[in-house]
Amino acid sequence: AKAQGRNRFHYFTASMQEAAQARVELINDLRNALCRNQFHLLYQPIVDCASGAVIKAEALIRWHHPERGLISPVDFIPLAEETGLIIDIGNWLFREAAKQARAWRQSHHPDFQISINTSPVQLQPEGIDVQAWGELLNSLDLPGNSIAIEITEGLLMDNGFATRLMEIQELGIEVSLDDFGTGYSSMSYLKKFDIDYLKIDKSFVRNLKAGSSDLALCEAMIVMAHKLDLKVIAEGIETLEQQWLLNSTGCDYGQGYFFARPIPPAEFDHYLTKLDG
Ligand code: C2E
Ligand code: CA
Ligand code: CA
Ligand code: CA
Repeated sequence: AKAQGRNRFHYFTASMQEAAQARVELINDLRNALCRNQFHLLYQPIVDCASGAVIKAEALIRWHHPERGLISPVDFIPLAEETGLIIDIGNWLFREAAKQARAWRQSHHPDFQISINTSPVQLQPEGIDVQAWGELLNSLDLPGNSIAIEITEGLLMDNGFATRLMEIQELGIEVSLDDFGTGYSSMSYLKKFDIDYLKIDKSFVRNLKAGSSDLALCEAMIVMAHKLDLKVIAEGIETLEQQWLLNSTGCDYGQGYFFARPIPPAEFDHYLTKLDG
């Protein structure tokens, strides 16, 4: 038994070493991913519940790794945050999204808005260069509200965070509170910051049924948001029933596979053309 235990110990050490090695390699690859053009954005429509119109979309990042194929943001965003690479990735994302917003404002609707996910790390002192973002908007002749940033509470929060957020809002950029109702996005946020949109987390939408406690929670979140003068976006809508229940509780916008998956810009163009008729 003792020998076995020792073997097992060796086995774990080896696999832990491999895991650490793999992590280092992934971080190195991540460092080069931006200049090697390995990132791209997909866009998922955000649908106006009352009219069915689509003048908003969320940008979702994808990493095409030359050997490993497509890597999910869930697997590389945390590494990008730890290494600070998220700052450069976030700046690239902002530029891409702004250019796309300008294109869809011209081709589809003058008020088109793209929301981008923003890590709490980007709101730290070494984070977003707000002046550079403002200059980029100017150079593209875009008003700030062509972009919204989606934020979650995350782990990092201090006073600099609030200041940075206000500077960003002064550009006219709007703010969505993402994953609302989960541990990471709580009500204290609504008190501290001037938020524009509240996004109901998909965990509340997944099992939505008439008479369910999830429906009661969605209703309560919508009533509260409206009293605070916020618009509500429900994410993760996959079925007609979920969409219908949220519509009937006064939800403002919906997002999810029921309407469309996150898709490349060309496909999104096609989607908009069909909608516009
Ligand atoms: P999130 O911001 O909550 O984004 C929503 C996620 O739900 C996306 O996963 C989206 O593809 C997925 N989704 C959309 N509709 C449905 C649906 O009807 N059902 C279900 N089950 N899922 C749906 P994705 O693209 O894999 O992104 C995962 C997370 O990674 C995002 O969660 C966000 O936290 C992070 N992320 C993605 N792109 C970026 C980015 O550009 N920057 C940063 N910082 N984080 C990002
Ligand atoms: Ca989001
Ligand atoms: Ca979310
Ligand atoms: Ca407001």
